[in-house]
Amino acid sequence: MAKMDEKLEVVYQDVLKRNPGEVEFHQAVREVLESIGPVLVKYPEFRERKIIERIAEPERQIIFRVPWQDDRGEVQINRGFRVQYNSALGPYKGGLRFHPSVYLGIVKFLGFEQIFKNALTGLPIGGGKGGSDFDPKGKSDNEVMRFCQSFMTELWRHIGDVTDVPAGDIGVGGREIGYMFGQFKRLTARYEAGVLTGKGLDYGGSLVRTEATGYGATFFVQEMLKARGNDTFGGKVCTVSGSGNVAIYTIEKIHQLGGKVVACSDSNGVIVDEKGIDLDLVKQLKERERRRIKDYVEYRTHAKYLHGGNIWEVPCQVAMPSATQNEINGKDAAMLVKNGCIAVGEGANMPTTPEGIKVFLDAKISYGPGKAANAGGVATSALEMQQNATRDSWTFEYTEKRLAHIMKNIHEACFNTAEEFGAKGNYVVGANIAGFMRVASAMVSHGLV
Ligand code: GLU
Repeated sequence: MAKMDEKLEVVYQDVLKRNPGEVEFHQAVREVLESIGPVLVKYPEFRERKIIERIAEPERQIIFRVPWQDDRGEVQINRGFRVQYNSALGPYKGGLRFHPSVYLGIVKFLGFEQIFKNALTGLPIGGGKGGSDFDPKGKSDNEVMRFCQSFMTELWRHIGDVTDVPAGDIGVGGREIGYMFGQFKRLTARYEAGVLTGKGLDYGGSLVRTEATGYGATFFVQEMLKARGNDTFGGKVCTVSGSGNVAIYTIEKIHQLGGKVVACSDSNGVIVDEKGIDLDLVKQLKERERRRIKDYVEYRTHAKYLHGGNIWEVPCQVAMPSATQNEINGKDAAMLVKNGCIAVGEGANMPTTPEGIKVFLDAKISYGPGKAANAGGVATSALEMQQNATRDSWTFEYTEKRLAHIMKNIHEACFNTAEEFGAKGNYVVGANIAGFMRVASAMVSHGLV
C-alpha cells in the first residue's frame, strides 16, 4: 500500500474502526486519502475544519425492509439502502444497484466515489447511492415490478427533485426506473419528473442518457490518447469487460471512433471475436432478450466463448473495464501492460484493485479512474434534471455535444491538477484532488453542518 500523510493515516484508522468489515468502502476512502495530502498542506483550513473526517461520514444512512411476493405466492424479504452521502454541491445524486452482493459497505463505497465524481462534472449535484441485495437475474417481469413497487413504498419519503435524485446502476435500467417512477407518482400524487433520472423518453427521460456512461468513458480515453502524443482510437484493438449498459455503449462509441473491440464478457465467461464484436447481436441478446453472452457463438460461429475465462489475458491496446468493482487485480494489470496496453478507462466503479492501479501508474500507461472516466452517466443525469426543471427536451446532437464537452473539461481538470500537484500524468491524483477541492471549498462556506 502507498504511504499516507501521518495525520491522514489517523483519520483512516478511525474510518476502519467506525465501519468494521466494509472492505470496499475502506478501499475507496484510502485511495482518496492517499492523494490529498498535498492539498492539506496548501489549504490548512481544510484540516482545521475537519473536512476529511466530515466527508468520510455520510450525512444520512437509510436501511429498510423490502417485502414482496414472488410468482409462486411466496413472501420474499430483501434489504434496501439509500446513503445520502454529501449535499455540499447539490441534491444527493447517484444510482441504485440491485445485486445480491449489495450490503452497506458496497453502497458506501459507491456513495463516497460519487461525491467526487459528481463534483468533477462541474454540475450542481451532491453524492449518494442506494440499492438492494435483490437479484433481478431469473426474475419475471412481474416479480421485478412488485419488488420495485415495494422498494419505492419506503424510499419515496426520502427522495425528491431538490433533495435526493436516484438513477440506475447494475441491475437497474429503464424498466426498473419506470416501475419506481410509477409507484412514486402514485404514492405522492405528484408528477415530479426530476425525482429520478434514466427515465424513458416518453415521460421525461433525456436523449443520450442510455448511452452516456459508455460514450463518456470513451470520450475520456480519447482525450487521454490525445494528451499522450496526439494519438487516437483509429485502428486500436480494444477489450471491454461486461456486456451491460456501460459496456454496450462503450463498444458502440469505440467502433464509431475507428477502434476495434475484440472481447467482452459477463460473470460467466468471455467472448473473443477477432473480427470485432457484433454489437447489434450483443444488444439483441442482452437488451432485448435478456440472455447470457455465451449465446453469441450460436450466431457468430467464428468467435470463441471462454467459460470462466479472463478477459484481461486478451491482448489489447486499450482496456475499458465496464463490469464491476475489483475486476482487475495486480496480475491482470501486469498482463495488460506486458501485452502492450497503453490506456485504461474505467466505465465501472473501482474496477481496479490498489495493486492493479500501482502497476498501471508505475508502467506510466494512461489510466483513467472511474470517478473521472465514467462521470458521463451522472453528468447526463444532471442534464436530464435540467430538462425536467424547464420542462424541455433537447436533441440527441445537442445533448451529446454537452456530454463530450463535460468529459473534455473533466479530463483537463484532472490533467492540470495532477501537474499542479507534481504528479503529471497521474489521473488518480488529479481526479481525487480536483473533486475534493470543489466539495471541500463548499463545505467550508457552509460552516459546521
Ligand atoms: N450509477 C451511475 C454512476 O455510477 C449513474 C448515477 C446517476 O446517474 O445518478 O455514476
